[in-house]
Amino acid sequence: MDAGIVQKIFTDHFETYRKSHVVDTRQYHAAESIMSCRTPDQGYHIDGCPNGDYHVLLYNSCKHRSCPQCGSIETELWLERRRRQALDCRYFHIVFTMSHDLHPLWRKNRKVFVNLMMRASWHSLRELLLDIRWLGGLPGAIAVFQSWDDDMKEHCHIHYIVTAGGLTADNLWVSAKKSFLIPTSNSKFGILSCYRDFELFKHKDH
Ligand SMILES: [Zn+2]
Ligand SMILES: [Zn+2]
Repeated sequence: MDAGIVQKIFTDHFETYRKSHVVDTRQYHAAESIMSCRTPDQGYHIDGCPNGDYHVLLYNSCKHRSCPQCGSIETELWLERRRRQALDCRYFHIVFTMSHDLHPLWRKNRKVFVNLMMRASWHSLRELLLDIRWLGGLPGAIAVFQSWDDDMKEHCHIHYIVTAGGLTADNLWVSAKKSFLIPTSNSKFGILSCYRDFELFKHKDH
């Protein structure tokens, strides 16, 4: 999808939408940023060569994380940095979720809530994987918090990309079983799913 389409949708319909819906400051700022991205409202800069042979005037980007025109570049750069950090091993993709009854708390305390959820999920993962029944080692992991599901409905959850192995107390690498890392049925840990061989960091030999 052309990133400019989202900007056009907002420009054409946001004013009407906000007359009949409650829009908080954060949402308003996001909409304003998306609508003004790379337009005169954001100001401009000049790209040119030092000799003055060439110069071009460009409108500034909004750099808001919700803006598709800015976000796609940031996403690619983030992905590239993570790929460079990745170890040459298999990875599992694990999703932690939580009761929707807690969403009102998240709405009012976003930063504290995300920090707590990150910490609690990592403690759970570490506790499980240090257990000799599942791995017996400390894995490497990358975590990303998301507050929406695929249908754009409120759904706080955390995606974990976890190494299929870890370091023992003696600093030795222990590999996970081929197709299983941790049980997903254990409600104590709030784990929704666990998929093996996450594509992004797929083992180079496979
Ligand atoms: Zn933008
Ligand atoms: Zn997600």
